[in-house]
Amino acid sequence: MAAQPSRTDRPVVAGERPHVTVTMDLESLERRAGRRCELEDAGPIPAEAARRLACDASVARVITSGRSEPLDVGRQTPVVPAALRRAVVVRDGRCRFPSCDRPQAWCDAHHVVHWADGGSTSLDNLVLLCRPHHRAVHSGFRIEMVDGRPVFRRPDGSPLEDRAPPQVLR
Ligand SMILES: [Zn+2]
Ligand SMILES: [Zn+2]
Repeated sequence: MAAQPSRTDRPVVAGERPHVTVTMDLESLERRAGRRCELEDAGPIPAEAARRLACDASVARVITSGRSEPLDVGRQTPVVPAALRRAVVVRDGRCRFPSCDRPQAWCDAHHVVHWADGGSTSLDNLVLLCRPHHRAVHSGFRIEMVDGRPVFRRPDGSPLEDRAPPQVLR
């Protein structure tokens, strides 16, 4: 097993990690009947896409209440702190979706229970997923944690085989 090289988790553009801003109202985030979900420079997006974008730290989020009183502005406070992300990377190694090999640099740390629904930002509620698979679990595929391991299910409920963790934690 090779040691993890010391480096930043993600590429930096102009001194800042790549980011976009998503603005959404609290109702949309909590899957109630929200209306406002907008991606900077792109306009309205589906609520579930906004939930996915708010799931990890690569996106600045602005959550509004009522008209547009900002409740939470996420750019200064990443959802998943860097040290915790590193712990998820050490455990999962790369995208954790069954049979996917995409490296951690392409991955988000997905909240199994969304933080907007009360899920904790902790190792046992985070799973490393590449962008396509992060999208998949926000649009039909499911994950639940069973004894600290993610169990993946297709939209019809049938299970997908999880691979063994790539490294043994010491
Ligand atoms: Zn997610
Ligand atoms: Zn993947």
